[in-house]
Amino acid sequence: MSLLLKNCRFVITQDKARKVLEKIDVLVEGNIISKIGKKLAGDEVIDCSRSLVMPGLINTHTHISMTKLRGVADDCVLEEFLEKTYEIDSKLKEKDVYEGALLGCLESIKYGTTCFNDLYYFEDEIAKAAVELGLRANLAWACLDKEMTTQKGDPVNNCEAFVKRWQGKNELVTPEVGIQGVYVTNSETYARAKGLSEKYDVNVHTHLSETRKEVYDCVKQTGKRPVELLDGIGLLSKRVTAAHCVWLTKPEMNILAKCSVNVSHNPTSNLKLSSGGLAPVPELLERGVNVSLGTDSCASNNNLDLCKEMKLAAMLHANAKWDSRLIPAQTALDMATINGAKALGINAGSIEEGKLADILIVNLDKPNLAPINNLISNIVYSMNGNDVDSVIINGKVIMHERKVKNEEKIIQNQTSASLM
Ligand SMILES: [Zn+2]
Repeated sequence: MSLLLKNCRFVITQDKARKVLEKIDVLVEGNIISKIGKKLAGDEVIDCSRSLVMPGLINTHTHISMTKLRGVADDCVLEEFLEKTYEIDSKLKEKDVYEGALLGCLESIKYGTTCFNDLYYFEDEIAKAAVELGLRANLAWACLDKEMTTQKGDPVNNCEAFVKRWQGKNELVTPEVGIQGVYVTNSETYARAKGLSEKYDVNVHTHLSETRKEVYDCVKQTGKRPVELLDGIGLLSKRVTAAHCVWLTKPEMNILAKCSVNVSHNPTSNLKLSSGGLAPVPELLERGVNVSLGTDSCASNNNLDLCKEMKLAAMLHANAKWDSRLIPAQTALDMATINGAKALGINAGSIEEGKLADILIVNLDKPNLAPINNLISNIVYSMNGNDVDSVIINGKVIMHERKVKNEEKIIQNQTSASLM
């Protein structure tokens, strides 16, 4: 069974040359983009003559089940935010995590996200929800010190059991090792988590240098800044995706570059939690660090629309440094697509023959997307997630003309976090 995207008005390929193709067909066979060319034939055909075809967006940092916590801790200081979210978090049962994950996966798909990188516990529930909706998911079970968690048992053992259960089990799910952050992880826990990632050859997903307090506390306790600490224990490598990285010194940026660490930039979450600084994204890019984009959770965002993160990433740094050339629209789009795929080690992020068929179709007959003076600018500065009409993940049409299977049921079944 093949799927033909017929006569695409534009294809933003995100290939090496960043080519944009016009009036061309894209053929999907199985879960792969098998051919791009003229006059192709396929079993199932979608007319794309009024549409743009582009790679799916990749969210490299989220806690998808916390979509349930949307709006529970707004307009308050960080300590109060942490207290409120921790209190609800500690009461969550497996079924709540599953229910929240279904909602988060649904929202992600409707905004054109085709893969997300999660950091949480009860990740089996999240895997179940992602598979049910057909969304690609890299799932990291959070390791932290036993005495600092609400998880039952030893978090590192829980993580290992999760990796064993899901490695090679489903095409959509890639298990990872999660590490909450330096503030709840001692050197023994770090060593064990690192051991797991090496033993099973899986990625590591962690928070890093999100707040100034975290950095100061780390220096007080260990004499080292967080990046130096992690470098010292040999954790940093290309397997690692580190979320936030707001408070970095230049030597720390050099370490991240030297170790090929992937940074997930989460501009909305950083702004909303008002933690002051701004991740030094232009300086990281200058050093060749692979920077991608994340929404963080709905408790601190309060949505999962990566289009908003693209636009903010392009504008925030320009404004802070008085230089609108710093992160051009093309770079912001790279961060949301090809850079995300590189961070997560998935063969996606571009429309090229041989790549996974994770594809968006956007009908361009919309007032906010016309006229087309600069297509990439329209995507980064004018498009929002709701402009995505159809989503293909792993070769399957998951959303067609904005309809996703069971969406009303998923929304209506949500219980409010305040009732838990
Ligand atoms: Zn986070």
